[in-house]
Amino acid sequence: MTKAASAAAKDFAAAGVYGVHLAWADNNGIPRSRIVPVAGLADAATRGVGATSLFAVFDSHDAITYSHSGLSTPSGDIRLVPVVDRLRRLAGQPALAWAPVRQFTQDGDPWPYCQRSVLERQVAEASERGLEFRAGYELEFAVAPAGSSDVLTSPGHPGPAYSPHALVPLDGFVASLLHDFAANGLRIGQLHAEYGVAQIELSLGATDPVSAADDQLLARQTIHAAAHAHGLVVSFAPLVGLGAAGNGWHLHTSVRRKGQNLLEDPDSGYLAGLLRDLPALTAITAPSVPSTMRLRPGYFAGAYAFWGVENREAPLRYIAGSDHANVELKTSDASANPYLALAVVLAAGMAGLDDRPALPDPIGEDPGSWTAGERETRGVRPLPADTAEQDAALLASPRVAGVLGDDLLGAFRAVRASDAAWAADRTADEIVAAHLWRY
Ligand code: GLU
Ligand code: MG
Repeated sequence: MTKAASAAAKDFAAAGVYGVHLAWADNNGIPRSRIVPVAGLADAATRGVGATSLFAVFDSHDAITYSHSGLSTPSGDIRLVPVVDRLRRLAGQPALAWAPVRQFTQDGDPWPYCQRSVLERQVAEASERGLEFRAGYELEFAVAPAGSSDVLTSPGHPGPAYSPHALVPLDGFVASLLHDFAANGLRIGQLHAEYGVAQIELSLGATDPVSAADDQLLARQTIHAAAHAHGLVVSFAPLVGLGAAGNGWHLHTSVRRKGQNLLEDPDSGYLAGLLRDLPALTAITAPSVPSTMRLRPGYFAGAYAFWGVENREAPLRYIAGSDHANVELKTSDASANPYLALAVVLAAGMAGLDDRPALPDPIGEDPGSWTAGERETRGVRPLPADTAEQDAALLASPRVAGVLGDDLLGAFRAVRASDAAWAADRTADEIVAAHLWRY
């Protein structure tokens, strides 16, 4: 690896790259990074660079909580080691390159709080069982002119939803996105003006799960840089305003055995596994206070635990087909750590393949339009509505909670509690505003 890092550093230096972002996402889905000069890349790839161990207990507002017993003092350092085969020069920031990191202890042991390693373990487990996953994120975000305090009062495009005309004022930005994504090695499936105020959606091509999470992080960096170059800012926050359509980061997955897509049959156990654990999954895939505010009926975001065939209100939307059959998890957003989100989805899906829980009939309507009595009769429950309910759902599923391991689970829960305490004496508008530009 050092050889590969030295070679990359040499090429970068010759091409006018001065530094490399060593990037990861914390337990709030917030990207963090350290830049090393290219001359330091090989050393970083060998020994790592130092960082505080407390990143695992940063909350969504950059406050550090000491309530998790494993990380209860300001002392301690970890090593961030770039994943060299994922190094990319950033097309939109040509003096910089980018690589995701793995986190290690000072002694070079795996750091139990390393989210990327948690996903790598699930992928290894899948491969031991002869399973191969494919995953891809769809990113919804809102655009505003640089300097805007929010999106709703200064929308970056006028709509109409899905209109080609809506994107005319953003032509240069759209062109940069298409160029920079390709140059950064990211595949865009589609891009369009979405339903929400000044909203754009961009889907990433499906790939292996770890690459899908890496890509999701790199996509954010790429979009932020392109927006900046065009005098814009983007909000990836789950909600940009009360009563407005949210930004879902829907997660598409499928799983193959011996090349056969098991999602061709919705009743293979995978979908049933996700449905069985959906409340606990959502505690990881849509974990912030604004996440729970986004999951309202009528907004295509998923508010009740059910599945449907191409039903856009369903948190689990089954998309039929042969090779491309997959399931879309809508209760997923930018405040999730992309590695942890995928790790728990894989684990719940694999448990479903093992246990084959009964799959109820799909629902074609919006259960939000039913009475509470109808929902009760048809066995459709609301998803956890706040942090406390999410926490209870998470603890009620050892299948999901166990994926994180005790240390990371403790830190993750401490961070959620810290966020909830922050939000307790704030209004809904204040909460939305404080998360707008965090991701
Ligand atoms: N914006 C919706 C959400 O919050 C999703 C709309 C769609 O189906 O693409 O997830
Ligand atoms: Mg969408």
